[in-house]
Amino acid sequence: MLFRRLGKTDLKISAIGLGCENLDGKTYAQVESTINTALEHGVNILDVFMPGKEIRENIAKSLGNRRKDIIVQGHIGSTGVRQQYDISRHIPTVRRYFDDILRIFGGYIDLGMMFFIDSEEDYKEVFETEFVTYVEHLKTQGYIGHIGFSSHNPAMAIKVIKTGLPEMLMFSINPAFDMFLSEEHREDASECELSGAMDPKRAELYELCKQEQIGITAMKTLGAGKLILPEHTPFAKPLTVPQCIHYALSNPAVASALLGCQTADEVLDAVRYFEISESEKDYSASLGSTYRRFEGSCVYCNHCQPCPAGIDIAAVHKYLDIALLDSDNIPPSIRCHYSNLAHSGSDCFACGNCESRCPFNVPIIRNMEEAERILGENS
Ligand code: SF4
Ligand code: SF4
Repeated sequence: MLFRRLGKTDLKISAIGLGCENLDGKTYAQVESTINTALEHGVNILDVFMPGKEIRENIAKSLGNRRKDIIVQGHIGSTGVRQQYDISRHIPTVRRYFDDILRIFGGYIDLGMMFFIDSEEDYKEVFETEFVTYVEHLKTQGYIGHIGFSSHNPAMAIKVIKTGLPEMLMFSINPAFDMFLSEEHREDASECELSGAMDPKRAELYELCKQEQIGITAMKTLGAGKLILPEHTPFAKPLTVPQCIHYALSNPAVASALLGCQTADEVLDAVRYFEISESEKDYSASLGSTYRRFEGSCVYCNHCQPCPAGIDIAAVHKYLDIALLDSDNIPPSIRCHYSNLAHSGSDCFACGNCESRCPFNVPIIRNMEEAERILGENS
């Protein structure tokens, strides 16, 4: 394992970290074996954004007395409602969930992350309310070691860093995201093909992070696995896992590439990065090839939740993506999974809550209709 300093913090974190989201809903045995394998291979940073008590407790239990050796990235404002992920800035709710993660992880969270600051509204709800006072209180009272934040929007991340408050950032980084243009530059892009150059706003963010020593933990390193799959990659040639890791770690501001491994084997596949040759890590040939738009593609992150109709939007997209690979030959198992969902695309009443929350501009309402059209009972 390679260790990197996390920006202006005094922490040395493993260049590959574990984003634990994909362990949510898994058995304790699976959580334990995945975490044990990660720790045995030097991983020392875990992202725990999930609000659920069971997954938090399973992670803490599998760490056991190794908790003190591990850097836990915990999120302030990540909450739940009706078994779905939610974001809250309502202090009693925020405090309830953060007290819970503090209790579970021994009264201390190494990186206290202001959760999900993607829009002007998010910014105001954090910095112009008592939310920010609560975060500062957590730091001054020693409940958190460092203040960080998570974002998917380079313009908002720049704005937050310029407040001078955060010491680090969790940001979505992979070549597809770096190349899709942020809002202010989008007019110059053709519908079907982008230039292959980095979005200027993202370049500005990374430069600012370097200058201000804001260390980044990278999320969505594999684009929810889509970059490595021939049928989903936006590039003519899929990247490999080590190439995606190498891309993130080539960014000088990035201290750790977080991977959402679900099994011990996936951890082993990720840490192979340290054993292979430089030429195997080289991603340039894939990036030089034809590029299709990745924007609007769901990465199953659940940030659009909660849905008032109770739809598991990420799950619907997973089934829809598979179905669209060959819509004339949809696997029966996919139809079965879709029909077993408690709420499906037909329950969508187009309220639009989800679309305003999705950081990746996914046309969710249209996709709910599409899912129902090709997977629903009357399809
Ligand atoms: S629709 Fe958007 S927010 Fe929802 S899971 Fe997909 S990418 Fe994430
Ligand atoms: S638009 Fe549809 S899928 Fe989105 S939150 Fe509203 S009901 Fe749910």
